[in-house]
Amino acid sequence: MRSRQWCLRAMATITLNDGTQIPSIAYGTGTALFGRDCANAVRLAIDTGFTHLDGAQAYGNEDSLGAGIQAAGKPRSELYIVTKLKGGLGAAQVKPSLVKSLQQLGVDYVDLFLIHTPKPHPQDSTLLELWKAVEAVHAEGLAKSIGVSNFTVDDLKAILPGAKIIPSVNQIEVHPYVWKAAEPIVKYCRENGNIAIASYGGLTPLNRVPGGPVDNVLPPIVQRLEEAFGKPVTANQALFKWTCQKAAIVVTTSSKEARIKEYLESVRVPDLTADEIQAIDDAGAKLHKRFFMKHVFGE
Ligand code: NDP
Repeated sequence: MRSRQWCLRAMATITLNDGTQIPSIAYGTGTALFGRDCANAVRLAIDTGFTHLDGAQAYGNEDSLGAGIQAAGKPRSELYIVTKLKGGLGAAQVKPSLVKSLQQLGVDYVDLFLIHTPKPHPQDSTLLELWKAVEAVHAEGLAKSIGVSNFTVDDLKAILPGAKIIPSVNQIEVHPYVWKAAEPIVKYCRENGNIAIASYGGLTPLNRVPGGPVDNVLPPIVQRLEEAFGKPVTANQALFKWTCQKAAIVVTTSSKEARIKEYLESVRVPDLTADEIQAIDDAGAKLHKRFFMKHVFGE
């Protein structure tokens, strides 16, 4: 009964530009789980209500992601499974690598297949050739939706004119300390085919830069949200609201059941006001802190 209740709460979805639905919050198997057996963590996340699972070939744990999925025993149609093409692979390796991922995950298809970084094998393929190979696995039904990750505006410009399918998602680092750099990408994605933004690293102002300007500006916002919600609200949840209202899908992770529930509950927390968003933007503008893919973003 408990897990059913949480599942209902996790059902907020967003419609992608290909017409499919994506759950608005995802459980990630990189960062803290990178290179580690994530089966128990994934099972806990699914049992607690996550349906959107974010994996990647580079995380080196797709077999245990698959084991966690099997152990949870949820019907495949109720899960949204994502994997990402490892950086440095060429176009010829796209299909074999996805087939291997599917075997490890124990599924016939992924819901979303992303190019993890805009760095194909330099001798083998251009970015457009890589994208065309991704379009081909989509045409074969191995991936229901396709997209990219860590793509800058220039990377998107390199594929869009020759693409048959516009990417559905661009997964990038989004939080107030990278917002100035992320905003032009978010805007470009919106205006060029309505590419949805999935954001990772969203809790950075609390877990990687505690005590910073954003952390300091959150308490009155949390208090106002609690009054509007009539229930306790956390700083994590307030930050997720900022991310959702700025950029859409949240990709996060936790090893703790209580925090997993807290994350899922965030989809029900009332929206931030324009003034609250501005206060977080202003606090974020005081620091620039990127924690992932600095080489891609030239930092
Ligand atoms: P978040 O920024 O949401 O951070 C989640 C982590 O924060 C958890 O490990 C959690 O630990 C910890 N945490 C949560 N609340 C607090 C708090 N109040 N104080 C201190 N620590 C806290 O997400 P991540 O950056 O970890 O990334 C999430 C997922 O995004 C990854 O697993 C991966 O799937 C994806 N990702 C994708 C990238 C890409 O290149 N496409 C790059 C990076 C990530 P605890 O277990 O203790 O709850």
